[in-house]
Amino acid sequence: MSSLRGVTTASTELARRLARPWRAVFVLWALVVTLATHWPRLEVGSDTFPAPDKIVHMITFGSLVVLLRGTRWIARLWPVGLIVLAWTVLDELTQALPVLDRTFSAQDVAAGQIGVAVTLAWYWALSPIGGPANRARLGYRAFVVDDLLARPGAWIVVAGAGAGGAVVVGAATGLIAHGAGAGTMLPTSIMAGGFAGGVAASTAALAEAARRRGIVLEDVRPCFACGNPCREVAVAGDGRGDCPACRTSFHAGQWAPPMLLPLRVAARGTIPAILAGGAILLGALAIYGLVLGLSIHLTAARSLLRGWHALVPDMQLVVDMALIAVALAVSVRVYRHRQAPLYDGQHRRCRCCDHLLAGAVVTRGTGRCSECGTMFARFTDD
Ligand SMILES: [Zn+2]
Ligand SMILES: [Zn+2]
Repeated sequence: MSSLRGVTTASTELARRLARPWRAVFVLWALVVTLATHWPRLEVGSDTFPAPDKIVHMITFGSLVVLLRGTRWIARLWPVGLIVLAWTVLDELTQALPVLDRTFSAQDVAAGQIGVAVTLAWYWALSPIGGPANRARLGYRAFVVDDLLARPGAWIVVAGAGAGGAVVVGAATGLIAHGAGAGTMLPTSIMAGGFAGGVAASTAALAEAARRRGIVLEDVRPCFACGNPCREVAVAGDGRGDCPACRTSFHAGQWAPPMLLPLRVAARGTIPAILAGGAILLGALAIYGLVLGLSIHLTAARSLLRGWHALVPDMQLVVDMALIAVALAVSVRVYRHRQAPLYDGQHRRCRCCDHLLAGAVVTRGTGRCSECGTMFARFTDD
């Protein structure tokens, strides 16, 4: 009983520490969103330069999923998705209140919900995959990122990089679009370009910060459940040990140092990944072509096409961006699916040089390739 209490105290303490900045940012962002969408008679943009507010809706509600997930108030992902989906409707319904003098927009709701759907697709693309060794590697990476984002400084760095990337790419897109005579599409192009640039820059900043933090934590050997340093804890012959703070078992190979795989190894799975993502984009294009072709004869196809052209331009862009984002998510998932066996079979065949490791010496669950020196961990007995 007392040991059970120890487990919950240590891991709850860690969960609380990790969730703190997420909760602050979520509450702040939810307030900003609610205020901005309900400000009486707020009109952004003009007739000649319409504000790209469908893209804003997509990004806003997509980010609310990520932030609400980070608060750890809700354990599972799907209720988080459902809550934010309902939120997109509620946010528009309350705007239709007469005192606010704003209007209900079905396209705003749709743009927000597309944002939620794309975000959920990316959670699926990046979710744990493969056997024990690959999951341990992912567990370590998740721990490093969580630990990093428990520090307000990391948020400032990631947000700053994102803002910088958004400004640079947004301005460049604006210049190119202006040169091409995009006219009324200009703010939309700047917004779309800026968004993509911001996401790319903050992802790069987060990856680099995580790489540095990973090197520090590799030495500390934190328990993934409670964060307790396990550097000095005794490890059995198979590499297993128990965290003294919360009794969660660990494997000595779970803190495997991050490594750069040679290009020919890292490239495994890229072709099926590109094919899978490409198939989705081609499929969407084929459906559009089919509707276009059928519209000559079929009334249903004609009204479908008319419906598409009745959408405001930045809503069309939202649909296009969502398709590309989902195709990319599928590519990432396929690539990770192809890479996972490399990590799961690391004790049989070297991840780096393909050398067979049947005769290699394994001490407390880990060993090194005799050809290239790459460390491997044996999580299973096969
Ligand atoms: Zn622990
Ligand atoms: Zn090797």
